[in-house]
Amino acid sequence: MTDADSPQPPAAPAETLPATDLEALRAAHAARPPTTPRERLRWALRFVEAGDLETARALRAALPADDAARLDRALLADAPGAPTEEDAAEAEADALDLRRAPLERPDTALARLFLQWFGGRPDLYARQWHDRRRRRSGYRPVREPFTEQVALDHLAGRHTVGQYPLFPDGTVSFAAFDLDLSASALAELEAGHGPGSPVRHPVLRAYAARLLEAGARLGLPLFPEDSGGKGLHLWLFFAPRRPARAARQLLRHLLEVAGAPPADVSLELFPKQDAPGRRGLSSLIKLPLGLHQATLRRCPLLTDGFEPIESPEAALRRLRPVDPPQADAILGRRMLSLPLPSARSEAAPAPPAASTPRSLASALRALGEGPDARGAADRVLARCAQLRALVDRAYAERHLDAPEARALIYSLGLLGPEPTTARDALVAAGVPMRELHRVRRGLPSPVGCKRLRALGGDARCRGCAMRHRDAQPYPTPALFAVEAPRGEPRHAAFAPWLGQAELGPEPVEELGDAVRALDARLRRLEGGDDPAAAPPGDGPAPTASADGAADGASEPTP
Ligand code: SF4
Repeated sequence: MTDADSPQPPAAPAETLPATDLEALRAAHAARPPTTPRERLRWALRFVEAGDLETARALRAALPADDAARLDRALLADAPGAPTEEDAAEAEADALDLRRAPLERPDTALARLFLQWFGGRPDLYARQWHDRRRRRSGYRPVREPFTEQVALDHLAGRHTVGQYPLFPDGTVSFAAFDLDLSASALAELEAGHGPGSPVRHPVLRAYAARLLEAGARLGLPLFPEDSGGKGLHLWLFFAPRRPARAARQLLRHLLEVAGAPPADVSLELFPKQDAPGRRGLSSLIKLPLGLHQATLRRCPLLTDGFEPIESPEAALRRLRPVDPPQADAILGRRMLSLPLPSARSEAAPAPPAASTPRSLASALRALGEGPDARGAADRVLARCAQLRALVDRAYAERHLDAPEARALIYSLGLLGPEPTTARDALVAAGVPMRELHRVRRGLPSPVGCKRLRALGGDARCRGCAMRHRDAQPYPTPALFAVEAPRGEPRHAAFAPWLGQAELGPEPVEELGDAVRALDARLRRLEGGDDPAAAPPGDGPAPTASADGAADGASEPTP
């Protein structure tokens, strides 16, 4: 509680009495009850001071809102277990002791392990500073190697290191969510429970748990840390390094699945930029396991239940990077809003062999787990513009109408034992999973092209191989799922750079151009205003124009 918030002692009532004489106070109050709100507040605060909270609460009922809030603060501060000034002084002394005596004596092995995960750029780092008198904090870049000794000093609490996640080539070895509690929620927490970590706040914990759960479900393991300030960091690691843009896409995907943060939680994503600025720097983030210089609190890594892991070594040994194929699959799905670039020069693929709806449903369910089912979903989305549009809408607008949700459930939702592509899109659109689970209890026929056309219009189906109806007794995009994969591995032609450690911005831009070109062409085709109505890829690609367009094409984020 700040000085400004502290309830001032009330002016003594007309009949001045010793504040400790509760009986006399009650008698004086009964003899001359307050008649104005101001008098009522004075008496209520007087009763709080004298320890008669019950009478104070009774007086509260007749107070206007502002005065009632002021009384509430006094009541909260007087509640049993509420922090006193001595408690605060003790906490500050503890923190100073903590600074002088680190929890565990770090050694070079621990420093090496720390650098392996949090070292980032080896050529520079930043040091946190705090001006206690002016209550200001910040970071000073240090253009020196981030050595074991620097890491040792950070772990020992002798100084605190922040790191710039972006390497000069635009890649990152880690990404992070920074979750902070709002000032009002923080003040409320401290008023009720004393100074300490905001990680105790149930709203912050609940939202962080949602992100952790989304990460576990998507195969993107997040590792929580008490940031030592106003909240939590959730770390995601890459080995090999990934382009910053791809890393941010993965964080956004997690956000879409977990949902937006509650009002009392603000959120930042690191890395924030795609490439370092002119001075070679980017937005930095404070590293864990040291001291927060402003609060003097330790920043331990936490268990998935948000309990501090006492041993830094044990905490570092449980970290693990994202499985690269899993990251590829998610990134691939997010960018599947348009046909693969290679489709520009390919003839339309022949539709697979004819099949009855029932045998097709069995074949869809029999698709293998994991990559097999995801590969099947990618094949369907690559060929069927109607379903692509629905998945796009789910992510971009976070909404699907009931018939649209059903179309996804009866197509992508039937693939394999775990239909992750459908589930993620439905979650992003806020569609309950009940219908998906119900449908999957049987072997229903997949949705047909006729119904999809009725939903999305005929224009999207132009040029699709499935339109050769005479070859198909029951045309449905689900047939693409059971077609054998053709040619190269699933993502190779689509995003060949995603698994490389060293890369520049060119391939991303190249893909962006291709996607924009296809997008423009597709829009013209859909709008029916392209007299040529040529299949994608015919003729020169339209020129991409602005950065905003590039972002829009490659980052279909709501
Ligand atoms: S014809 Fe069928 S498979 Fe092709 S785009 Fe239309 S709905 Fe999708």
